[in-house]
Amino acid sequence: MLEVSHLSKTYGSNADATPAVGDISFKVARSEFVCIVGPSGCGKTTLLKMLCGLLEPTSGEIVLSGRRVTEPPEEMALVFQDYSRSLYPWMKVGQNIAFPLLRNKSLSKSERRERVEQAVEAVGLIGFIDKYPWQLSGGMQQRVAIARGLAYQPEILLMDEPFASVDAQTRADLEDLVLRVRHEYGVTVLFVTHDIDESVYLADRVIILSARPTTVQEELEIDLPRPRNQVTTKELPEFARLRAHVYRAIKRPGEVAEEATPVPEVSAKSS
Ligand code: ADP
Ligand code: MG
Repeated sequence: MLEVSHLSKTYGSNADATPAVGDISFKVARSEFVCIVGPSGCGKTTLLKMLCGLLEPTSGEIVLSGRRVTEPPEEMALVFQDYSRSLYPWMKVGQNIAFPLLRNKSLSKSERRERVEQAVEAVGLIGFIDKYPWQLSGGMQQRVAIARGLAYQPEILLMDEPFASVDAQTRADLEDLVLRVRHEYGVTVLFVTHDIDESVYLADRVIILSARPTTVQEELEIDLPRPRNQVTTKELPEFARLRAHVYRAIKRPGEVAEEATPVPEVSAKSS
């Protein structure tokens, strides 16, 4: 469904040049849940911005459903890390979620309302549809952002460290929420995180990035049974094995790094 070939991005030029993404190629199949994991600053956000047509690659190409991406594709939705800046503070929850749907002229007002209500229900925010974002907790705001992505009914949902700034319990709840709605909506998900446990817990496949300039260091199939469970899945010896594998891979920066790279900063919660 999504094919990324030899993508690279260098910010600036000459002395100021920052090679953010070195050379990245991978594929995502329809309905697959792929996590991209890599150390902070390795170019994950840069990669996602290129994938959704917001940033022009220095080289390489992105093909979505057979078409080359040169501008934001209609079939994609993106959930950002910083929910406090991604919701419109002057719009109520329902209006925030409905906003991207206004682009779709073929949707009637009642169809729009139905989609919004469905998405609000999926993320457990019934009763908050007429609140403003600033009346909600951080975790709830992020659920609004997820609902907005779902209501749009994208073919592929891109998520950039969406739970990095919520507390651990909320994070676990939101992880399970994403797994559940992904199952219900059958959406393809490309989920970026620096959290190793999270990547193994969520994904069908984990793509491990090297330090900058970023390349794909390894792709790892995650064949843990579904539905997954925060306690029983993480107790499985296979979970521990996969987690340790990703952890070790990230500890050793890829040989392709041209500049001296400190040991990447990664978070690995003890499970
Ligand atoms: P990550 O999301 O993995 O933390 P980013 O994609 O945000 O990494 O950034 C990768 C590298 O590119 C970092 O060194 C960052 O400082 C640099 N960078 C990101 N955005 C810009 C920009 N607009 N201009 C110049 N450098 C940038
Ligand atoms: Mg980032």
